[in-house]
Amino acid sequence: MPVPSADLPRWRRAARIAAEARELGLSLATPGRRRRDVADAIEAYIQKQGAEPAFPANLSRNVEAAHYTPSPEDEVTLEDGDLLKVDVGAHIDGAVADTAATVEVGGGRRHENLIRAAREGLEAGIARVRGGVAVNELSIAIEGAIGRRGLKPIRDLTGHTIETYLLHAGKSIPNASGLSGEHLVEGEIVAIEPFATNGAGSIENGVFGNIVRFRTDPGGDDPWLRATYERFRTLPFTARWIEAGADRDRLRRARRHLQTYPVFVERGGGLVAQAEHTVLVRAGGVEVLTRLD
Ligand code: MN
Ligand code: MN
Repeated sequence: MPVPSADLPRWRRAARIAAEARELGLSLATPGRRRRDVADAIEAYIQKQGAEPAFPANLSRNVEAAHYTPSPEDEVTLEDGDLLKVDVGAHIDGAVADTAATVEVGGGRRHENLIRAAREGLEAGIARVRGGVAVNELSIAIEGAIGRRGLKPIRDLTGHTIETYLLHAGKSIPNASGLSGEHLVEGEIVAIEPFATNGAGSIENGVFGNIVRFRTDPGGDDPWLRATYERFRTLPFTARWIEAGADRDRLRRARRHLQTYPVFVERGGGLVAQAEHTVLVRAGGVEVLTRLD
């Protein structure tokens, strides 16, 4: 569904903040730095700029494609040569922007082909966006760009339309052709996010990635649970955002109200690069909301 045009300034503000937070995360991805410190810095930046994280900063590495955020106790440090996805979301009163880029920690060029494939897939998809376009036209372009680098798109991870407080609003944007019969509508907000891999081109569930969200409204019996639901609604969150001690114990006990997300791992053990922008569909083209220029 199109976003009301009166709301667009809010979406543009959230998108600029998300894009700046993405760039901050990329710049902090240096050997020896804790992943947890990178995630904390990204999320603190978003809040300092007057937005809220729309989901925990995802810092998935190497064969991890998506949905890893550091736990409060995570001491893992980034290593030279790690292929790190920095996937960031910011929202202002439910106007959500979602953007990602991939960096090789240490600045080497071992993974350049993968990083470029994801980025070129994204640009090829964006170039096709206009009101009324068939989603499959974007998918063909994405798959073609990644294939030209001798790599595969991940077929079971997709872009998505976004609506107020809804990160995945219903329409998927596949990264491979022949999977969608839908069309984009002028005024829609869409996240386009190709994943490129040298593996099998699909994902499987790994361990818990420290990301949860409320399945439904937990009701009013438990005041802490009530307040936590009021804070996050059904957007994803993480234990790092909950005060250490009694509240984190309450979160653990609340498991039955929560959906937990596993890390998505490349099925063939391949390395994965991702690139993502949030865009506004225009009648004759596109406005890339999360591009800084
Ligand atoms: Mn994302
Ligand atoms: Mn997304």
